[in-house]
Amino acid sequence: MDMEIRYKSTRSNGGGVTASQAILKGLADDGGLFVPDRIPALEMSADELAGLSYKETAYEVMRLFLSDFTKEELMYCINGAYDDKFDTAEIAPIVKRDGAFYLELFHGKTIAFKDMALSILPYLMTTSAKKNGVKNEIVILTATSGDTGKAALAGFADVPGTSIIVFYPKNGVSPIQEKQMVTQKGKNTHVVGIEGNFDDAQTGVKEMFHSKELAGVMDRAGYQFSSANSINIGRLVPQIVYYAYAYGRLLEKKEISSGEKINVVVPTGNFGNILAAYYAKNMGLPIETLFCASNENKVLFDFFETGKYDRKREFILTSSPSMDILISSNLERLIYRISGESAEKTRELMEALAGDGEYRITEEMSARLADFCAGFATEEQTRAAIRSLYERTGYVLDTHTAVASHVYYEKARKTGVKTVIASTASPYKFTRSVMNAIDASYDGMGDFELADKLADISGVKVPQAIEEIRTADILHNRTCDKTEMEQTVRDILGLR
Ligand SMILES: *Cc1c(COP(=O)(O)O)cnc(C)c1O
Repeated sequence: MDMEIRYKSTRSNGGGVTASQAILKGLADDGGLFVPDRIPALEMSADELAGLSYKETAYEVMRLFLSDFTKEELMYCINGAYDDKFDTAEIAPIVKRDGAFYLELFHGKTIAFKDMALSILPYLMTTSAKKNGVKNEIVILTATSGDTGKAALAGFADVPGTSIIVFYPKNGVSPIQEKQMVTQKGKNTHVVGIEGNFDDAQTGVKEMFHSKELAGVMDRAGYQFSSANSINIGRLVPQIVYYAYAYGRLLEKKEISSGEKINVVVPTGNFGNILAAYYAKNMGLPIETLFCASNENKVLFDFFETGKYDRKREFILTSSPSMDILISSNLERLIYRISGESAEKTRELMEALAGDGEYRITEEMSARLADFCAGFATEEQTRAAIRSLYERTGYVLDTHTAVASHVYYEKARKTGVKTVIASTASPYKFTRSVMNAIDASYDGMGDFELADKLADISGVKVPQAIEEIRTADILHNRTCDKTEMEQTVRDILGLR
């Protein structure tokens, strides 16, 4: 029996929309996030996953969530996304080092895991537009802590019927991340640095999404917004795929036996990646514990330890900037689930967060968090994780993956359960921090010199994404204050 999955808001009890409508809208009208009305069970046994390619796994998982897409539509999206944009046919290879399995999610165009979903989102979005008879140009509005921006720009560049505007914190991303964004080609791409941090950028974007007035002005001019942020279910669903794929590969390589449970450790910021792992578990994938790894912005660690979410704290700029986040948007979907799918309770807590900067979950809700375990790494522990794994195995981690690696050694390894660590970026994306962790005397070198040195010491050649920006021209230099974001969008689109 093929019952279509509907997507409803986490904050009210409406009838819900189809998957393609949820992808187009990004955010529900009431400010809530779209969630599936049920989490479908995997129809294949975990064993059957062993024989599947990445694309086959993607189809098997995504068809269950995107149930209003035809087979042809979904295959078109999958085939368009997971092709030779990735530098390996495996798409997401697993590398075993010192007993842990690093799931390398950084083989796409922009060498970070955001490519896993953002390579397919433009296909899902334009297919959804076609299915729903949308005539307006879709304006992708995105706030980025560094990696989403570039991956979204690369995905949407010159895609007909779309344009994309990316806001990033001017002083809150790595030099390589910034260079990747401001050199982006494509007539429909716009990049804006804001004076403010990631949370400011994200808040500004959400406000524009909520503005009925702006939506009206846009519509009259032939535009409508959508989101490439990880709140879009078109981001979330493709991320479930690689957990199923990882399980299949481990079985195929006989690293695990049939039905054996695995742990996953996920370096976490906006809670999108780990939420996808949670959905995978709820689909029936044999996952034991989900380890949520934070950097010094450890709001999630504190939440899992105490049941209280408190964003009223200093925002710390760390060497893992894509996790420098105090408001983890996707946590709302977990809150919804552990509240027994109560839109009233979720709304109440999210309003408390917006108003008072904090909320506390009930005992009953806490009891439903048993699937999770949280840890964090300080800056020193992050550096030590990079250095020690390099010294023991020659394998070089990026700073985000290093946070997860620290939590693996501190917590996950001790369970005796085989563990997959989500490896979310290439070390080449954060070369300076990575090389400094290995040997502080590298610090005098220039960014590209450092990349060459990294190639020497790791034996991994400099990826195309870095080669491309060595000499690329700066094409974007727009900046604005965090209070001027809407005006900037109006200027870009020529709205009055
Ligand atoms: C975005 C990002 C993260 C955090 O992922 P979330 O889904 O936001 O939790 C971790 N590492 C890297 C390299 C990222 O780009």
